Amino acid sequence: MQHRIVVLGAGYTGAIAAGRLAKRLRREDVAITLVNAEPDFVERVRMHQLATGQDLKPRPFSEMFAGTGVELRLAKVTGVDVDRKTVAVIDANGAEELAYDTLVYALGSGWNAQGVPGTAEHAYEIASRPGALRLRERLARLDAGQTVVVVGGGLTGLEAATEIAEARPDLSVSLAARGGLGDWLSPKGREHLRKVFGKLGITAHEHAAVTAVEADRVATADGKAIPAAVAVWTTGFAVHPIAKATALEVTGTGQIVVDGTMRSVSHPDVYAVGDAAMVMGPGDKPLRMSCASGSPTAWQAADAIAARLTGGKLPNVPIRYFNQCISLGRKEGLIQYVTADDRAVQAVLTGRLAALYKELICKGAAWSVVNPTLGLPTRRHRVTREQAAAGSAVEATA
Ligand SMILES: Cc1cc2nc3c(=O)[nH]c(=O)nc-3n(C[C@H](O)[C@H](O)[C@H](O)COP(=O)(O)OP(=O)(O)OC[C@H]3O[C@@H](n4cnc5c(N)ncnc54)[C@H](O)[C@@H]3O)c2cc1C
Repeated sequence: MQHRIVVLGAGYTGAIAAGRLAKRLRREDVAITLVNAEPDFVERVRMHQLATGQDLKPRPFSEMFAGTGVELRLAKVTGVDVDRKTVAVIDANGAEELAYDTLVYALGSGWNAQGVPGTAEHAYEIASRPGALRLRERLARLDAGQTVVVVGGGLTGLEAATEIAEARPDLSVSLAARGGLGDWLSPKGREHLRKVFGKLGITAHEHAAVTAVEADRVATADGKAIPAAVAVWTTGFAVHPIAKATALEVTGTGQIVVDGTMRSVSHPDVYAVGDAAMVMGPGDKPLRMSCASGSPTAWQAADAIAARLTGGKLPNVPIRYFNQCISLGRKEGLIQYVTADDRAVQAVLTGRLAALYKELICKGAAWSVVNPTLGLPTRRHRVTREQAAAGSAVEATA
């Protein structure tokens, strides 16, 4: 009997986890199924590039996983029953249930409108490909001099505003930030950011919490109206509601609570990785939703599953941050070095070199997804029946 591992979501973390499991475990022992709604890998970290008219390399899963032993299932996940250990999916042929012995939940996240009035009707998002394509089409129709406001002064907002201003110097681009511009960066980092904003002609509205979005403006908490033919909403990400509807222990925002091996604290046969998981990082701070910390959660989950199934040693690699890599258009960048718990230190890398560095990071992240089983030593251990049948439950209750 094969041990059935079902991985939900083939974004950065789900695809990496599935590939690593295939590399670690023998094909005769496990059946790995990877479920994803779309047929190709979406490089979410490049959605601001897609929105500004750049074309991204197509990366079909059928090619990526050919010959790896991972079975691809193109379907939309509609629910998970953690008591019956089944996943409900739907595709063109109708609804179906998939049974699992071990589940890896990696459905990622989408945009977070935070309940601000008018966002659903008027704002554009770049957390998803459909959102980025919708913005792309809208930007292409804007005439010179029209206004674009990027709402959100975090990493995604900075990348979006600079990318739009560089691609469309004829537009009037501004950014509304709840705090000061790049106020978490080091002094050198902030200075560089202001310089680039100046060069690209981007207006920064600082300490401007946006409270409503209308068809042609956004309103701020201090009663101002910022003209906006287009408002791009980038104030963080929200996870999909599927996990919250299960018996899994989740946070108030719906992230699955996991231990250091990415295993659900309530259901030992479920693992969660990437944006969907609430993982405590260094300094007892939750990891932020990012590829930077998401990819290591996928490695950790796959290695832990393999270890538990084969009686091997559990991984115990602390997940930490090294830097924040921020693109500021195609020609400029900012690499802000940080402490293990993501606080800025003095060192920064700026300019073209930083842009190049960021590009290499994006390419590297895609490479590790697109080559799911390459680059790892093959350590295919036998799954022992006892470990597969009982090991996880015993350990979880111990
Ligand atoms: C514009 C932008 C720039 C970013 N830049 C950076 C950066 O520079 N550095 C960084 O570290 N992070 C960055 N991020 C964040 C990063 O993209 C996410 O943290 C990362 O994608 C999370 O990976 P994941 O595997 O958890 O989820 P995702 O990559 O979102 O993958 C989830 C997968 O699940 C699939 N899925 C979702 N729901 C269903 C369903 N119901 N049924 C079936 N399939 C489903 C999706 O199609 C997708 O394939 C950026 C994000 C954006 C939007």
